[in-house]
Amino acid sequence: MPEMPELENIRKLLSDQIVNLPILNAKVNKEGSINIVADDFASELQDRKVIFVERRGKLLNFHLDNGRRLLVNLMVGGSIFYGNQEDLPSRNTHVEISFGENILFFVLARSGYVHLLSAKEAGEVLAELGMDVWDRRMNIERFIHAVKGRRGALKTLLVNQNVISGIGNRYADEIAFKAGLLPSVKVQELENEALGNLYHAMKSVLSDAVETGGVINVPLMTADSITGHYKLQVYDRAGENCEQCSGSIDRVELNGRKAFFCPICQHE
Ligand SMILES: [Zn+2]
Repeated sequence: MPEMPELENIRKLLSDQIVNLPILNAKVNKEGSINIVADDFASELQDRKVIFVERRGKLLNFHLDNGRRLLVNLMVGGSIFYGNQEDLPSRNTHVEISFGENILFFVLARSGYVHLLSAKEAGEVLAELGMDVWDRRMNIERFIHAVKGRRGALKTLLVNQNVISGIGNRYADEIAFKAGLLPSVKVQELENEALGNLYHAMKSVLSDAVETGGVINVPLMTADSITGHYKLQVYDRAGENCEQCSGSIDRVELNGRKAFFCPICQHE
């Protein structure tokens, strides 16, 4: 599933392309992915402009010039493509928003959605999220404040969107590796110093991932050479060699989630 770095990359690239361009029309190929009748969805979007693309946690929130919002959750396997019909790599799209020559194609996973909402309604959905991991106000004190008093495995905490939003399965493992902590470490047993190290590891992994366009190599546009260049150290690499110590990457199940780690580089 796209996490903060992937979505931040999409947000930046897309902002340069669509902001202030009038929407020509919208087409819905899967009614279940929108929240109103398809004809109303199309007529409400016609002639509107996106004035700002926001990302919160693992959601994209397109601000329209009439104050309404398009809230998008891609979910696992979901993607976005911007370009013309000929350039579109997959034809199986669910929602299409046309800006004339170019179209914004949404390929949504099973429970993914594109919801047209009022600012208040979108705000209510976003209010359920913990502070965004990339929020300018996020700092070591706020991070420790958010995780203090929580119990359970480190990975489970990092992916809990109500605590801190934006991190999912991939980056939780990468952050734990960078911090030298096992994903199974009990959060309540971490002292402030370890939490501080964890915070710096989180910032370091995520800023590298943002700079290199994240890990999911699905280009947003034809001329997109930025997306998908982040190199994972442990996630989905069970049995491969750790690049830090040459040991073998291992895998465990934690509360029904896979977690990948290096048993030599990571400790309790
Ligand atoms: Zn190692």
